[in-house]
Amino acid sequence: MAASPVISVVCPFFNEAAAIPHFFERIVGVLQQEDASFEIVCVNDGSTDGTLSALQQAQQLYDGLVVVDLSRNFGKEAALTAGLDFARGDAVIPIDADLQDPPELIPEMIAKWREGYEVVLARRVDRSADTLAKRLTASIFYKVHNRISDIALPENVGDFRLMDRLVVEAIKRLPERRRFMKGLFAWVGFKTVCIDYARAERIAGQSKFNGWRLWNFAIEGITAFSIAPLKFWTYVGGLIAFGSVLYALFILVRTLVYGVVLPGYASLLVAILFLGGVQLVGIGLLGEYVGRVYFEAKQRPIYVVRKVHE
Ligand code: UDP
Ligand code: MG
Repeated sequence: MAASPVISVVCPFFNEAAAIPHFFERIVGVLQQEDASFEIVCVNDGSTDGTLSALQQAQQLYDGLVVVDLSRNFGKEAALTAGLDFARGDAVIPIDADLQDPPELIPEMIAKWREGYEVVLARRVDRSADTLAKRLTASIFYKVHNRISDIALPENVGDFRLMDRLVVEAIKRLPERRRFMKGLFAWVGFKTVCIDYARAERIAGQSKFNGWRLWNFAIEGITAFSIAPLKFWTYVGGLIAFGSVLYALFILVRTLVYGVVLPGYASLLVAILFLGGVQLVGIGLLGEYVGRVYFEAKQRPIYVVRKVHE
């Protein structure tokens, strides 16, 4: 086996056959300019189009491609985890296959890394390529997440970044199965610097993340790094209990002064419905966390590899 490469680029592919030729042409062009050996770890995340054969074709054209073929679609976070596990470089760079993360940024990242930074983040200063709804919801997500979590996620930073080997080894020691990579990246810390770029349009194909998937992704991120939503219900419960004590006192005094008054079914109904609703929401939220404990307790592997094509 060849000496381990200096730079590992890690890229998850899920039905990206149309983007693959463009992707390799651009990224290999950039990497060849660098004075460092490189590998590109391509994770085929259970694609159902011609992605695998396109990757194998690319392997004929370019040196340094490793194709990790997963047994089915495990999702981007799992695919990225697989890529990090197989990457051997001194620095590792996760990147999307659709060229929304410009490979031209890589030389700048490597320069910062050589200056001594352990993490080089690529921050999207211009997201006009994303839809307004996506930008808005992303911004709300970051605000909420960072308010209630111990770990602040840098805003407008995706998975595109450079990480030193030290950082990758630290991430590999985090055992959780449900992986919110952005959060895990932030959790490990290390000496970090940011560089800015404008997010490009997808070169080909379509985004795999629709509204519902993004919503679940956001819930994943928040529940993985904060228990504030759980604590919240303690306070809601406390407030409602306190309010009912006040109301009880009020009724007591009123009864003493005016005697028994019968009407009141409306307020009863409101109280029952309101409390029922609040309790169900609380239980549902508890369920989110219990579900997560359940998944972690099973200790299933994060991904399954069918074959590694070197
Ligand atoms: N991806 C993946 N598995 C999935 C979904 C997506 O490996 O289940 C990959 C996809 O091929 C791409 C990257 O993750 O390389 C980002 O996906 P996409 O461009 O659809 O996300 P967006 O940029 O719209 O957030
Ligand atoms: Mg994309």
